[in-house]
Amino acid sequence: MGKGTLAKRLVESDDHLWLSRSWTTRPRRASEKGTEYVFVERETFQRAIDDNQFLEWAEFHGNLYGTPLPTAPDDSDVLLEIEVQGAEQVRREIPDAVVFLILPPSMRDLEERLRARGDQDEHVALRLSSAPQELAKGHDLASYVVINDDIERATAEILSILEELRRLRRDPS
Ligand code: 5GP
Repeated sequence: MGKGTLAKRLVESDDHLWLSRSWTTRPRRASEKGTEYVFVERETFQRAIDDNQFLEWAEFHGNLYGTPLPTAPDDSDVLLEIEVQGAEQVRREIPDAVVFLILPPSMRDLEERLRARGDQDEHVALRLSSAPQELAKGHDLASYVVINDDIERATAEILSILEELRRLRRDPS
């Protein structure tokens, strides 16, 4: 299971974590319910860019993805499930943002996940070929690197890091 599932597990397990819902121009996959993103036409997305409605946005393999300015409750931390170009922008805007780099256990595993969710051969090849650059950028940005080898284990690891970060925020000494 991928990053999306991990993000969902995290907010289900933590009442003070608020998951942002991104916009995308990517067509909905047959396996998707339609709630995963706000699916929009490119023109609508472009208007939102022009109106400064995004905290960050990026083009990823031909489609646009963006995080609307968050509307989380005051008592919550905001969780963004985004790719590296977006994470770079967030880091510039919010220097103390915590970046988790989530890695598949292997490239073979990533390939299998992409195929299992129905991605076409061409798209799988593209994703795999761009992975090394994304990985390098991700490592530069990351506050923490988490291997998504087992969804329960990875969820527990991130939750325990969050708990420690919140403890430090309450009591920095
Ligand atoms: P997918 O098309 O597989 O759902 O997502 C492709 C990539 O876009 C994933 O790495 C996902 O994390 C990323 N992504 C999803 N939403 C956003 C967003 O709002 N901004 C950015 N920069 N990337 C996003």
